[in-house]
Amino acid sequence: DMAAYSAKNAGGDRMSLYSEGMEEFNRARAAMAIDLKTAVRKGQLELLYQPQNETSTRKLKGFEALLRWNHPERGLIMPSEFIPIAESTGLILELGNWVLEQACRQAATWPETYTVAVNVSPMQLAQDTLPLQVAAVLGRTGLSPKRLEIEITESGLISDQHHALKIVQELKDLGVCVTMDDFGTGYSSLATLQAFPFDKIKIDRGFVMSLTSNEQSAAIVKSTILLGSSLRIPVLAEGVETEDQLSFLQEEGCEAVQGYLFGKPLPHAECLKLMRTDPTYFARSTLRKKQA
Ligand code: C2E
Ligand code: MG
Ligand code: MG
Ligand code: MG
Repeated sequence: DMAAYSAKNAGGDRMSLYSEGMEEFNRARAAMAIDLKTAVRKGQLELLYQPQNETSTRKLKGFEALLRWNHPERGLIMPSEFIPIAESTGLILELGNWVLEQACRQAATWPETYTVAVNVSPMQLAQDTLPLQVAAVLGRTGLSPKRLEIEITESGLISDQHHALKIVQELKDLGVCVTMDDFGTGYSSLATLQAFPFDKIKIDRGFVMSLTSNEQSAAIVKSTILLGSSLRIPVLAEGVETEDQLSFLQEEGCEAVQGYLFGKPLPHAECLKLMRTDPTYFARSTLRKKQA
């Protein structure tokens, strides 16, 4: 019958469109993987820095380093596009090393009160070498370990928990802070929190986004802040965009915030400017002391 015929026909067309689409997608991915191989060497990678502030005082405390790829033909490429490719090709190990080195080198030029947070991917954690690499980078750059935070998502901890725990412990022994990123979005956030000695919890942007419009999100954020305070682990809320969200987080006693309300990820030069206008910037305070 006609309906079945046209449905079948449409289905057939869809199938060929689908496979053409897939082919195109795979071609683009393969091309990207080839370009990504030389991106570090060609100086196409850049770290942007997003402010992290104390909730109660709004004071600037530090920055999260976020990776960008400035592709000569494709323009700016976001991590959601190229990190998965870097992971599946193993290139993430080289990229991750570059990120660590660059973030520590730049942060070492900042006033000592500011911290830098660096994202580490599951494959980096799966190696034995991460703590040694971190120690070497800290030694080379002179950055104090207590100013470095390593952000880990739950997906980096599930494949071999025993190994991951050893790595996390070694990082902590170096004196760096280890943070659980995207809390609440993983497979078993509470079990992960119990198994790993995190120094900080970051509530995922997804919950913060709908905080003032959705009762479930509000309840989850509230409970996470309470959980953090019971466990004596400071909580940071990511993706804070409005004053209403900030008020809620202030009332609930969330320690730190990050989001467009305080600033988008900035190029390093802009991040330096922001620190210079910050009242806690050491140059200003020593200047003021001298003038007094
Ligand atoms: P993440 O670590 O959870 O980083 C937070 C993401 O939320 C960043 O996206 C940031 O730009 C975005 N964001 C922060 N505040 C707001 C806000 O108020 N509104 C909105 N709409 N977005 C906000 P970005 O830079 O695109 O990074 C996405 C993810 O890519 C990161 O999520 C992280 O998982 C990964 N990533 C970024 N840089 C690196 C890196 O150097 N290494 C690794 N392994 N992963 C990285
Ligand atoms: Mg992060
Ligand atoms: Mg996050
Ligand atoms: Mg996130």
